[in-house]
Amino acid sequence: MAIAAELHALQEIDSAIDVARATLAAVEEQLGETEELTAARAAVLEHREVLRELHESQRDIDWQVDEARSHLTAVEGKLYGGTVRNPKELAGLNDDASMLKGQLRRREDELLNHMVKVEEEEAALREAEAALKEVEGRWQGEQSDRLGQKQRLEAELAELEKSRQAQAGSIDGRVLELYDVLRDRRQGKAVVKVERGMCQGCRISLPMSVLQKTRSGFDVVQCVSCERILYVS
Ligand SMILES: [Zn+2]
Repeated sequence: MAIAAELHALQEIDSAIDVARATLAAVEEQLGETEELTAARAAVLEHREVLRELHESQRDIDWQVDEARSHLTAVEGKLYGGTVRNPKELAGLNDDASMLKGQLRRREDELLNHMVKVEEEEAALREAEAALKEVEGRWQGEQSDRLGQKQRLEAELAELEKSRQAQAGSIDGRVLELYDVLRDRRQGKAVVKVERGMCQGCRISLPMSVLQKTRSGFDVVQCVSCERILYVS
């Protein structure tokens, strides 16, 4: 094969390697946990924590209700027990009893309100858990798709790198160096086609002498303007 054709073939492989590497990097970036999954998991933990706190404060309110009830029972015991006869004292106990009844009622109302809150939070937790399960299921599916894609790309890259080695092996070292420099400098396009007498890299019309040399294909001929290696298919 003429040198320009060899270099062009090498560039085709290198471009395919570039594409495969970029795709692989994008796939790898999508591996691991998504923001959606992290958020769904955090929501469940948050609801669990709120519920735990609610259960804790419910124990306090329960305790306060019990306390108010036994206090009232004690006062009523004295009031109706017959041991206290002094009217002033009885009147005082009566006042205490009605005050304690009011207190007990308020505590019981508080407990009821609290139990409603607990129920609401339990429902919110169940909802968050269901959402997490759904997100996790979807995520696992996507993960295994991506892992499959990653493996395919890695195999493809290994093949491409093998062909690159074989292709580069047939090209002179100094020419390869020039190719590498140009590929670096010209966004991966070191070798360009000549069509209708024009360099397809920079669209300049090439001098006849350059065109003739390019057509022979046995020398490395560079564009007079963009310096890319010229190739006639
Ligand atoms: Zn050019």
